[in-house]
Amino acid sequence: MFSNYSFTAAERFLRYVQLDTQSDPQSSSSPTTEKQKELSRILATELQHMGVTDAHMDEWGYVYGTIPSNTKKDVPSICFCSHVDTAPDCSGANVKPLVHKNYQGNDIVLPDDETQVLRLSEYPYLEKLIGHDIITASGNTLLGADDKAGVAEIMDLANFLLTHPEVKHGEVKIVFTPDEEVGKGTARIDLKKLGAAFAYTLDGGDAGSLEDETFSADGVVVTINGVIAHPGYSKGKMINAMKIAGQILDALPKDRLSPESTEGKRGFIHPVRIDGLAEKCTIEFIVRDFVTAGLKKKEDFLKTLVGETVRGYPKATFDFQVIEQYRNMKEVLDQFPQAVDNAKEAIHRAGLEVKIESIRGGTDGSRLSFMGLPCPNLFAGMQGIHSKLEHISIQDMNKAVETMVHLVQVWEERAV
Ligand SMILES: [Zn+2]
Repeated sequence: MFSNYSFTAAERFLRYVQLDTQSDPQSSSSPTTEKQKELSRILATELQHMGVTDAHMDEWGYVYGTIPSNTKKDVPSICFCSHVDTAPDCSGANVKPLVHKNYQGNDIVLPDDETQVLRLSEYPYLEKLIGHDIITASGNTLLGADDKAGVAEIMDLANFLLTHPEVKHGEVKIVFTPDEEVGKGTARIDLKKLGAAFAYTLDGGDAGSLEDETFSADGVVVTINGVIAHPGYSKGKMINAMKIAGQILDALPKDRLSPESTEGKRGFIHPVRIDGLAEKCTIEFIVRDFVTAGLKKKEDFLKTLVGETVRGYPKATFDFQVIEQYRNMKEVLDQFPQAVDNAKEAIHRAGLEVKIESIRGGTDGSRLSFMGLPCPNLFAGMQGIHSKLEHISIQDMNKAVETMVHLVQVWEERAV
């Protein structure tokens, strides 16, 4: 099916990464930075030129487009989604992408900052990329494969489907979002307009990987109320809320239940911010677990710890507030097993080994899943993300496109 097709994902990618689309966590506008719209506008125009007649960018910088069904079967509408913004952690301005052809396992020294060296010993996945063509940045910036790889691959999928009408598929929807890296990627998405039944984000790493699980997440705000008095005359009266807060932080487990001591499927309680005076002090925590019921256990544990500490100071009081953040998308995806099953079959047909992974964080997919659009995450090939050593294999990008082409066909075959 791909024998006469020349992939366009890498060519597109090399162009898209040269546009600075960094998002800004401090901004309250939508999108958080206007410059993201420059890429979004180009994507809408390129989709139009391919023949995606309804392609457009809305006022918030979201790009929508539809590739109509070409089958008589009743196939659910499938959406592919990726984000145009890059992470605020590392500069995304003046990205100079470099292609290293036929990689042979050697160190890759980035020319604009020779201290930036991509080494196989530090990135073991490079072993799998021997013989591939690898794209890096030049040393001063991130590359932006997260997630312009996904963007370029979805654009190439559109190009492929529109030039290969013999490939049968249901309706395929495309959406490109801004601000994923600052947690606002779904803030202004219009799911009614999108009209898809299932979605896949293209925002993952190793070829063949498929993520169907994220953390479930809550925030907790603990407020400690002390008793204030003039420090010169406060013997037996003052209760310093900051000292109680210090005691609470010190009492947190150090060898378990913390980000520093957990990996895999274990969650944690993590203080992220402290703010206070002698009179009143607040500590903000994030609580993470793959099982939502496990969040409650961790919160109960924390509440008991805070209560016992504060009880040592009879006139002090505390307030314990839990704020829901996001939930493990597996709770939704388990109700629609076809979303993950069809993706596994597509990865298999692309000649890859399926690697099911869980994300120790959240994704737009977890938010979309709970908004009513079940949305696992497919690999896009990105490696070393949010850093100057970010890189991607052109062959992995092409495998991502191939996987999507199989995926729309699997949905068509399995429909009635
Ligand atoms: Zn991403």
